[in-house]
Amino acid sequence: MRKRFAKILATVGPASAAPDSLKLLHEVGVDAFRLNFSHGSHADHARAIQAIRDIETSSGNAIAIVADMQGPKIRVGTFEGGKSTLRFGEEIRLEVGESSQEDGLVCLPHPELIEAMVVGDVLKFDDGKLMITITEKSKSGLMARVDVPGVLGDKKGVNVIGTVLPMSAMTEKDEIDMAFALSQEVDFIALSFVQKVQDVIDAKEIIGDQADLIVKIEKPSAVDDIEAILKLTDAVMVARGDLGVELPLEQVPVVQRKIITVARALGKPVIVATHMLESMIDAPTPTRAEASDVATAIYQGADAVMLSAETAVGRHPATAVAIMDRIIKAAEGDPSYPDYYTSANMHPQATINDAISQSARGMAEVLNCKAVLGYTRTGSTVMRIARERPPCRILGLTPNKAVASRMALTWGVRAVVVEDPKSFDEMIEDTQEIAKLEADAVTGDKIIITAGIPFGRPGTTDTLKIATID
Ligand code: PGA
Ligand code: MN
Repeated sequence: MRKRFAKILATVGPASAAPDSLKLLHEVGVDAFRLNFSHGSHADHARAIQAIRDIETSSGNAIAIVADMQGPKIRVGTFEGGKSTLRFGEEIRLEVGESSQEDGLVCLPHPELIEAMVVGDVLKFDDGKLMITITEKSKSGLMARVDVPGVLGDKKGVNVIGTVLPMSAMTEKDEIDMAFALSQEVDFIALSFVQKVQDVIDAKEIIGDQADLIVKIEKPSAVDDIEAILKLTDAVMVARGDLGVELPLEQVPVVQRKIITVARALGKPVIVATHMLESMIDAPTPTRAEASDVATAIYQGADAVMLSAETAVGRHPATAVAIMDRIIKAAEGDPSYPDYYTSANMHPQATINDAISQSARGMAEVLNCKAVLGYTRTGSTVMRIARERPPCRILGLTPNKAVASRMALTWGVRAVVVEDPKSFDEMIEDTQEIAKLEADAVTGDKIIITAGIPFGRPGTTDTLKIATID
């Protein structure tokens, strides 16, 4: 049982994909795993998915699986030896191709990009760490000058600054990957480089109710339209890596706050991602600034914080998770933590769901309840309860295993797969047992139950009950 509210989403990669490693990561704190479809084969992802589902079964904990689509992300090709050193002031060549066999040549498997670039355009590589400027264009490709040097690894990302490229939000690869991920019954599809509302509509049309959608906000145009985009999605990721390359980096903290505020008001789970414990790719401890960054996301009300390279290719994946777990618990243990979300001014909608959710939170506060238990068929009532941020565990009770796994990404929710009770009395008995097992409730503790009575019809939550543990 986790003693914290916010969730940890960890990226699977060579450093963590073995079944034993995934199991260890889950044990030390991972609630949801991200499969990055920019890397790895379908066979790799299928093996990881199977291993994660096995961990769900053996541990009894619902775990969310996020399939993260590459999107129209431009990446360099590969290099002989896996990397190439770009030196300051050096002239390099850019050509259409998959793999470079010589020094000073960078291959780009994107003919349309080479085509669209003109002299003077600026390219950034690897989350903006390296920068080049195009100096010459010829039939065979482009020449460029290295302005910010560094080591460029295989398939690192490319951002073209200030040029709008003729690319749609979903590539052919994404369509194939998405179909595969859905056939594997992942819980979330994450959509990269969302630019406009239509991107969300298009993705939703393909996904339907097979999975929930996470939009990754990493383009300035998506930030401009954030409210409309978040209204249509199921969840959102503040994808700070690309965001901080596409926008001036000083805008990242400002945009992070804005996205969290809008997502919280709408009750959509929000993930803060990228560089959270970046130095732990090599080092066994993070910097103090990184610790502070994780805590800031928690104080701001994020549902989840994410690890990327730290767990995918880092040297200390389990330690990174354990440290993130400790940072979250310390922030949540701060007596002033609730001040942040009670001051958030969350207005309920005029719905039965929100009336019940708000009341449940109020009751939990007044009575110092041990847990709010919500019976749910779609997860929606429990999401609205989580939006209220009650000061106790939220137990999402559902007969639907897929709904349980999706709830694993939401603040404070522990999902429990249970059959619906057959009567009101049975509900009281069942919830007492569940609260003892899943929320440490003991005799005399109060719990709150929300349900739709009679049971078995989705979208009918209409009952709020306070019970005392016998
Ligand atoms: P990525 O997305 O790791 O898939 O690029 C996250 C980000 O850009 O921050
Ligand atoms: Mn990105």
